[in-house]
Amino acid sequence: MTEPSKKQKYHFGDTGSQSALKQIIQDRGAARILLVRGGASFEKSGASAWLEPSLSGLSIREFYNFSVNPNLKDLQKGLEVYRDANPDLVLGVGGGTVLDMAKLLAYFGDTGIDPDLYIQQKVSGRASTQYLVAIPTTAGTGSEATHFAVLYKDKVKYSISEEDLLPDAAIVNPLLSSNMSSYLTACTGADALVQAIESYWARGATEESRGYAKKAIKGALRWLELAVKYPSKESRTGMAEAAYWSGRAINISKTTVCHALSYSLTSFLGYPHGHAVAVLFPAVFELHQKKGVVPSVLSALFETEDIAKEVFKIFASLGLGAREILAQKSLEALLSNVNVERLNNNPVSLTKAELKNIISASLS
Ligand SMILES: [Zn+2]
Repeated sequence: MTEPSKKQKYHFGDTGSQSALKQIIQDRGAARILLVRGGASFEKSGASAWLEPSLSGLSIREFYNFSVNPNLKDLQKGLEVYRDANPDLVLGVGGGTVLDMAKLLAYFGDTGIDPDLYIQQKVSGRASTQYLVAIPTTAGTGSEATHFAVLYKDKVKYSISEEDLLPDAAIVNPLLSSNMSSYLTACTGADALVQAIESYWARGATEESRGYAKKAIKGALRWLELAVKYPSKESRTGMAEAAYWSGRAINISKTTVCHALSYSLTSFLGYPHGHAVAVLFPAVFELHQKKGVVPSVLSALFETEDIAKEVFKIFASLGLGAREILAQKSLEALLSNVNVERLNNNPVSLTKAELKNIISASLS
């Protein structure tokens, strides 16, 4: 697996976050900015007021009001705005969808590649030089730190992976995610934790990615429950930082079987992404423990602590258990939609029967 070589600048915390953005704009000599943002959440999160001082006096074009899952039509509309604005800096401010859209606009806008031809694999990718800054307003997915984005066409999901989708800079200000509901905080935090553990044991892991995964796991174990139950500046900052390192880790290693199976729980059963991975995690972990994968890898990380019990306890206390018991017929449907690339990145090969057992054990 080739390691992304592009480096990312980052800033954590409320303090200094405005000047970090100002500095970037100044250093780039940026005058025309394309701001990709959420709808109502942009005001509510406080992002609008927070951005104002950094953007005053600049030429700003905005793109917002696109669907929750970025689709081709929205992207094409955004590309018209991009061409018209001819930005020297793209700024994505929002949740996972908004950041994905900003990444896609910067990439397809700069390269001029037709995204439709690209997903049909009729044209290949090339380097983009568009400068991109990501500012997350929902802590948890780590999208600001990855070179992946999701794009839907006619309800089919395409995972796009290009080195230049990685934002050049990420500014993580936990105060911008302080209006997140406790359920969303639990879901996104669980996602960060599972991503980091999967990253740690992934076939694609490297020494560098394991270092990031370790920071993410330690941070999430310390802050996840607190950020949900007793949200404070400190706990949100801790969790936002853990999520960022989780993104950095999977940016190199990618995820494994939990994520491979989770996408169908989301599309068929409506589980939010983080809830889906949390539901599957205990069965996945126990299977890997039986196969001897877990002790060799994770015991080095936690000397005496039983990490599995700790994680299961946290997910249960946050209400991230199964919502329904699954009928046999639906089980087959779920298994027909497994992400093969993520599955091949698993530390051990799993049979179809084992995958079936994971899902039925998780949803019973
Ligand atoms: Zn995830």
